[in-house]
Amino acid sequence: MDVRGGLRLEGLVKRFDDVTAVAGVDLELPPGKLISFLGPSGCGKTTMLRMIAGLERPTEGRVFLDEEDITDRPAYTRDIGMVFQSLALFPHLNVAGNIGYGLRIRGTEKDRITSRVRELLDLVSLEGMGDRRIQQLSGGQRQRVATARALALEPRLFLLDEPLSALDANLREQLQVELRLLQQQLGITTIIVTHDQREAMTMSDLVVVMNAGRIEQVGPPLEVYRRPGSPFVAGFIGRTNLLVGEASGDGSVAVAGRPFDVAGGANATGEVSISVRPEAAQLVADGMPERNALPGSVVFVRDLGELFECFVDCGIGEHVIVAGSPRDWVPVEQGAAVAVRFPAEDCVVVST
Ligand code: ATP
Repeated sequence: MDVRGGLRLEGLVKRFDDVTAVAGVDLELPPGKLISFLGPSGCGKTTMLRMIAGLERPTEGRVFLDEEDITDRPAYTRDIGMVFQSLALFPHLNVAGNIGYGLRIRGTEKDRITSRVRELLDLVSLEGMGDRRIQQLSGGQRQRVATARALALEPRLFLLDEPLSALDANLREQLQVELRLLQQQLGITTIIVTHDQREAMTMSDLVVVMNAGRIEQVGPPLEVYRRPGSPFVAGFIGRTNLLVGEASGDGSVAVAGRPFDVAGGANATGEVSISVRPEAAQLVADGMPERNALPGSVVFVRDLGELFECFVDCGIGEHVIVAGSPRDWVPVEQGAAVAVRFPAEDCVVVST
């Protein structure tokens, strides 16, 4: 399998007048993987992608593709395929015309274009639809045409900017899986920009979490979810319970006056924030555990069919959320006095 497409960004900065869109990014991405740039609107994801594609010039820093410095290369010589949020399909060309566009511009012979377009139509499950007009396609089919067009020239790098954001939730999920399978089949280095954490977790080998023009954390999806490195990451990737406590220096933390042990121990002293995922927190209906628990009263319960959730007022500001499978759930009434247990291995210190 092809392992081209290793990318390295060095000290990348982009300023637009007084806005710093990207504020100094160093990043090394391995070839053959799917990487997502994940973060809230305006954090600089698209600007990063556009600098990699050559559509935006960095104010500072360099972009390397397979160890070649491509910072000064024009976009069309970079060997990069891109799918834009708007898809930017050519409305005057049919499906085959769109997919074969790059090959035609490159002067590829007609028969070769026809067979390559057929191959690509198969690849994205649009067999026999080459003659269709773009206006006759569904949103999902248009997305597939844009993907096939971007892959036609067998690029070293495949970039997608929020490619599924215009689609409804079910189709989105289906295409996330399709795109991921396609990427695995081709082994092409792919970067996808998204603000949807489920999308990033569904598709990626690596998630790059961005905030305000900077990288907050890079890691495999589950690692970023289970071991968030900052309160921002903990809150952005899924929901979390943030507990503020006082670390004593002996490895334990006092939260609302109660003793807690935390994953890996607390090696600092002073105020710390601890993140505990709702599915890791447990309701205790009979009695108060000595460590790693807070007393509280049940404010609200809801059964979402696939998930049961309980909101508990533990007197620490935000309600604590406890989530679990409805099959394992011990029924509790609104207003009941309970305890919430936070297992030590799931208590992750996210700031000191
Ligand atoms: P979104 O998910 O909303 O697209 P993003 O994370 O992709 O957001 P960018 O589009 O990279 O964010 O924008 C980062 C910041 O740079 C924003 O404050 C944006 O307004 C600003 N910005 C982006 N492009 C330009 C431009 N051409 N001129 C001026 N400011 C810009």
